[in-house]
Amino acid sequence: MLALLLVRAGIDVVLLEKNADFLRDFRGDTVQPTTIDVLDQLGIAERFHTLPHRKLAGISLVQNGIGVELADFTGLGLRFPYLAVVPQRDFLHLITAEAARYPGFRLLMRTEATGLLRRDGRAAGVRCRTRNGPLTVRSSLVVAADGRHSVLRRAAGLTPRSLGAPLYVAMFRLSRRATDPDEGLTLRIGQGRTASLTNRTAYWQVSYETGRSGNAPSPGHDVERLRREIGGLVPFLADRTDEIRADTLRLVEVRQDRLRRWHGPGLLFIGDAAHAMSPVGGSGVNLAVQDAVAAANLLAGPLHTCRRTGRPLPRRFLAAVQRRRRLPAVLTQDFHRLLQRVGIPRALRGDQTLARPDGRAARRLLPLLRRLLSRVTGVGLRPEHVRIPLTARPADRQRSRPADDEGTGPSADRCPL
Ligand SMILES: Cc1cc2nc3c(=O)[nH]c(=O)nc-3n(C[C@H](O)[C@H](O)[C@H](O)COP(=O)(O)OP(=O)(O)OC[C@H]3O[C@@H](n4cnc5c(N)ncnc54)[C@H](O)[C@@H]3O)c2cc1C
Repeated sequence: MLALLLVRAGIDVVLLEKNADFLRDFRGDTVQPTTIDVLDQLGIAERFHTLPHRKLAGISLVQNGIGVELADFTGLGLRFPYLAVVPQRDFLHLITAEAARYPGFRLLMRTEATGLLRRDGRAAGVRCRTRNGPLTVRSSLVVAADGRHSVLRRAAGLTPRSLGAPLYVAMFRLSRRATDPDEGLTLRIGQGRTASLTNRTAYWQVSYETGRSGNAPSPGHDVERLRREIGGLVPFLADRTDEIRADTLRLVEVRQDRLRRWHGPGLLFIGDAAHAMSPVGGSGVNLAVQDAVAAANLLAGPLHTCRRTGRPLPRRFLAAVQRRRRLPAVLTQDFHRLLQRVGIPRALRGDQTLARPDGRAARRLLPLLRRLLSRVTGVGLRPEHVRIPLTARPADRQRSRPADDEGTGPSADRCPL
């Protein structure tokens, strides 16, 4: 997203992706209302809506068989009052295809950043590993958007503060049948366990919490036990749990952490690299997109000035990005921790039966929780608007560049910012 915004503003960008494609079967596939709003500001919301997607007006909780609405995006006065569940690969293709319309954009797939280049104490680019051997990309600004296991964070000598013990989640698919409930996104709680189910039309994407605090289950997690537990927690899936197999099951470690400082000379961290988000609440994608919009708004002008004057980008502009985005990240993470530490464990113990409409917890807690979750997930805590002018003209090469086309664009070994 940041690459798209910067090339639109006339700044050359080389975008590196270590994988050969954007396929992320088991990752956040939710696109939040404010992210769709950003796409609209960029004139690509219409194209976004042509991608295969499912609109979810809310999130439900099913606790011990009783259902209740946990979040509702329809009452927030939003232009797009729904979460769109879209394969992340399609979403990222849309963004990179749009960026590829501008001559200053270059996407290098299968190019893994392995370290930082330094000059006069500043980051001056990155070292990469490619299929064809090592590659050096020089640039006047390195933006590390390389996720929760950020290599560039390590290369810069920065260690994030952990915000709690890791959580282990088993992710897998189960087929969807015509007789299944017509649910969108539900959190299931019962028998001391939690699972979330996302309706992907042809199948259910299931995330199932398997352990906490150092109890990392083995990759060959006891599949038989998992099948039994899922069948107990989600009875309508009990007839197909044999589809869960060790070779198609992904075990993901979920951490929450945050860097104290999101920048160094010539270097900026955004998204999960700056603040790793848990899947709880489904806000990480939106938060990363909002970081990108804020960074583009704050950096496009100064980057143009640097190119004109040949001077390095002053660090205060990078600090301004952190100042703008830190509070939304901290508050969202705090909210998720509260849910994880208090709400979910209490619900698991059964002393907060949120889903019983006559219960005390439901009367007191549910309206507040619904308001908070709807806002944090649906809108975010400081929604950003694209404020940079469009200065570059799209070259409109008509074709949208395939993801692994290393075609033309600024030279890879020198990004002329
Ligand atoms: C199991 C799980 C489920 C989740 N579900 C949701 C959800 O439903 N909704 C939601 O909003 N959030 C969800 N989240 C959180 C969300 O995935 C993240 O907050 C979000 O993806 C962060 O975006 P990002 O761009 O910062 O990082 P990422 O999405 O992790 O993207 C980083 C990119 O950089 C690439 N990369 C990494 N290292 C290198 C390197 N060295 N060189 C080149 N490229 C590199 C990666 O391949 C990747 O494409 C979930 C998280 C987890 C762990």
